[in-house]
Amino acid sequence: MRIGFGRDIHRFVPKGRPFLLGGVSIPFEKEIDAHSDGDVLLHALAEAIFGSLSLGDLGTYFDEKDPKSEGMNSKIIVKKALDEMKKRNYHLQNVDISVVTEKPHLREYISKIKNSLENILNLSKDCIALKAQTNEGCDAIGKGEAILCYVVLLIEKD
Ligand SMILES: [Zn+2]
Repeated sequence: MRIGFGRDIHRFVPKGRPFLLGGVSIPFEKEIDAHSDGDVLLHALAEAIFGSLSLGDLGTYFDEKDPKSEGMNSKIIVKKALDEMKKRNYHLQNVDISVVTEKPHLREYISKIKNSLENILNLSKDCIALKAQTNEGCDAIGKGEAILCYVVLLIEKD
């Protein structure tokens, strides 16, 4: 078994594109500032999978400056990480996710996001923990300027 940790943070900017979290579009007055579609949860997840395999970070596989990856669907990033994992004969055991943001309130979207993750990861929901937290008003996240996501996961040899 191997453990992986991933973290990602993005700024919020005035609305343009949909705000995506775990592949789910969430109504919000702001969007995420990113070269890709800005799905902070999927980025942290992919980082954790790459990390568990000691395969570097997202930048190793996806160039932020590449115009081809402009607005890229982050599910492609997770799929790449899962493919690298499968190639090495590992599978996911469980994932534990914490999203830290002041707004929007995520509680009502938790089950929808978990359904989406179940599909993306092909992992049963009882192996996916998803927690929504605030930063108690502290720093940039507390002021609603950014959103942060942490992921810890375990992979196991087939
Ligand atoms: Zn990111």
